[in-house]
Amino acid sequence: MSRSAHPAGPRHADVLPEGHYSPPPADLNALDPKVWARTVTRDKDGVVTVGGIAVTELAERFGTPAYILDEADFRARARAWRTAFGNDADVFYAGKAFLSRAVVRWLDEEGLNLDVCSGTELATALSAGMPAEKIAFHGNNKSMAEIRRAVEAGVGRIVLDSFQEIVRVAHVAQELGRRQRVQIRVTVGVEAHTHEFIATAHEDQKFGIPLAGGQAAEAVRRALQLDGLELAGIHSHIGSQIFDMSGFEVAAHRVVRLLREIRDEHGIELPEIDLGGGLGIAYTSDDDPREPHEIAKALHEIVSSECEAARLRTPRISVEPGRAIVGPTAFTLYEVGTIKPLEGLRTYVSVDGGMSDNIRTALYDAEYSIALASRVSDAEPMLVRVVGKHCESGDIVVRDAFLPADLAPGDLVAVPATGAYCRSMASNYNHVLRPPVVAVADGEARVIVRRETEEDLLRLDVG
Ligand SMILES: *Cc1c(COP(=O)(O)O)cnc(C)c1O
Repeated sequence: MSRSAHPAGPRHADVLPEGHYSPPPADLNALDPKVWARTVTRDKDGVVTVGGIAVTELAERFGTPAYILDEADFRARARAWRTAFGNDADVFYAGKAFLSRAVVRWLDEEGLNLDVCSGTELATALSAGMPAEKIAFHGNNKSMAEIRRAVEAGVGRIVLDSFQEIVRVAHVAQELGRRQRVQIRVTVGVEAHTHEFIATAHEDQKFGIPLAGGQAAEAVRRALQLDGLELAGIHSHIGSQIFDMSGFEVAAHRVVRLLREIRDEHGIELPEIDLGGGLGIAYTSDDDPREPHEIAKALHEIVSSECEAARLRTPRISVEPGRAIVGPTAFTLYEVGTIKPLEGLRTYVSVDGGMSDNIRTALYDAEYSIALASRVSDAEPMLVRVVGKHCESGDIVVRDAFLPADLAPGDLVAVPATGAYCRSMASNYNHVLRPPVVAVADGEARVIVRRETEEDLLRLDVG
């Protein structure tokens, strides 16, 4: 029934049946500020601009497809999260949404911390100068080499995900003469989707240690016995693209219950609670995400009232937004290649990228919007399916989209809200070269991740 079991999943199948699409917008040339990066607008000729630069110029200088990232918007969103949560909480940007060295520096400058979940994400963060104590290391199967690297670097926390890992991290820390700060990731039996959540007794998923059956309590017992570990708190992450805060309420309730049991059994109050990420963004005009200050207020209230009821000191809260920071700040710029009307069926518009630069539509049934970017048009709306150039019929960028009927090869189109889980999940399927990420700010554009070249690709193929 659910098609959205993945953490970066789509809308729930029950909410929007397949083939759903909104009616055409009143004005096809309008750019809904909900889905576009903040500095996006149209210039006097009708060309979409971002950071003061026209997409036609960006396409000419950097080629298509390209991810265009609005730096001012990224910084503003990062700052809004930081400000909303204040000094008695920490915001960890989830690097898996999109990680590059420029982004790491912006985050550091804006006072955010960083989540990584592989040794190479860690290496990227360290090479950009992010202080190790501001980094949290995640993952359900960290290798011994990754654990050693993280402990050696002095990461602020390692989030323990299994009984084996408790022993492994303690062993490495002891070997290196360290005491590693850790949290234990628990699964609380809450599966959150866009507009609903399901509370269950058991969590059938690979992440975390279940609260059910006293497993998490046993993990705490073991971690507290090991000299190499400093158990700082409990971690919970319940889903993604969530708009409804009630799933967090149930999760916080269950985590606080564990904190109370820990106090009763061991006489200690753990100082930290991490509620994970997963906050939703607007991919289309139908989505209504919450502002960071509303989320911060809700989460603070939930945790403090639960702790008050359990007679616990309120722990330091942390959150891990990825998509909610970077998602809305970028769009993908494509050039239209072919337009194929199939009589009585539908019209296919092919662009010069596809599932290699945005797998989310194929993988999660994700919904996107799209706009003609290189000009405005007075033509009637035409219902189309926007597809890529890959040898795969599931290679869909936007399942149902309205574009002007005079759309022609050579037009530039832009898909907004592609900042999260697009470049970071990009592939070389069909040996297509991964697009660059171009950051724009104040009339300047610069490549922060360059386009892959044929040489890059052939260098890996050693014959
Ligand atoms: C993926 C993930 C996040 C970020 O999720 P978003 O939907 O991008 O906010 C945060 N924490 C953990 C543990 C994750 O796995």
